[in-house]
Amino acid sequence: MKILVAGGAGYIGSVTTQMLCDAGHDVVVFDNLERGHQPAVDPRAKFMQGDLRYKEDIKSALLAERPEAVIHFAAYIEVGESMVDPMPFFENNVSGSLNLMTAMVASGCKKLIFSSTCATYGTPDRIPMDETLPQKPESVYGESKLLCEKIFQWGEKIHGIECVFLRYFNACGATEQYGEAHNPESHLIPLVLQVAQGTREKIFIFGEDYETRDGTCVRDYIHIKDLAQAHILALKPGIAGAFNLGNGDGYTVKEVIDVCRKVTGHAIPAEMQPRRAGDCTALVADATKAKTVLGWDPQHADLSEIVESAWNWHRAHPNGYED
Ligand code: UDP
Repeated sequence: MKILVAGGAGYIGSVTTQMLCDAGHDVVVFDNLERGHQPAVDPRAKFMQGDLRYKEDIKSALLAERPEAVIHFAAYIEVGESMVDPMPFFENNVSGSLNLMTAMVASGCKKLIFSSTCATYGTPDRIPMDETLPQKPESVYGESKLLCEKIFQWGEKIHGIECVFLRYFNACGATEQYGEAHNPESHLIPLVLQVAQGTREKIFIFGEDYETRDGTCVRDYIHIKDLAQAHILALKPGIAGAFNLGNGDGYTVKEVIDVCRKVTGHAIPAEMQPRRAGDCTALVADATKAKTVLGWDPQHADLSEIVESAWNWHRAHPNGYED
């Protein structure tokens, strides 16, 4: 199948592209390289540099390539940053998605798989979280992804574009070739591993006064390879709608740091800080729908294994993709 991957030079996009190529698909990566990295693009994929904020970039790419499906990862992703400087999140994430859908209508592409997030739910009134929960985001990042879902739903209803919303919990881990290298880094596991590598002095824990077993936030950490697999399954004709992707196990921030200490053998000093704006107390997935409808079968649920894969990648790439 011919597939255009928007944001295919980013973290989840690079691994999904790798697995699509492994499965024999014909992949075109479309990325502006603002936060993605050219070396993260699988050499088996065709690379096109372009920016979703410029309508003509994506329209001309889709008209030239005529993919049967688009997988859309291109977005700003940091919750904390979105609460400090919100408008670029609406411009990049929402306008970019609007331009993508407009170009899909113009080019006749009928299938979209969208990288959505559990942050669209806000604080849930029950855990684990299934897809029937109301979506009430508490961060600009989550709101921007929810607005995209709404635009896509209208594209589906009126233009018949089949849309799949994959609502990720916390993506982490690495393959041998591709890993997490954001600049600046804001995610917990890569930051903790930077401490173990000696490029960061200590890890800050954002908030110790949440109503959880040790006072720190609970998240559901899911291996990037398992996430990528869900995108491949979602390509199947007839698959549409929202799917939560997580393991169903919640770990506190302190527990994650402890797992990283065991895997790396490093003491990893930690310091308490106030809460980070936009963070929910606990987010844990009920992925029953993905398992039954997509046939999703996560293979790497063990957090030590996930951290170990990230640790191996970070040790092999101490400067991320810069070297
Ligand atoms: N976190 C933290 N220190 C950091 C980065 C993150 O305590 O330096 C916490 C953050 O407040 C959240 C959890 O770790 O409770 C996961 O955050 P991350 O940014 O990795 O993912 P998010 O859940 O925001 O998508």
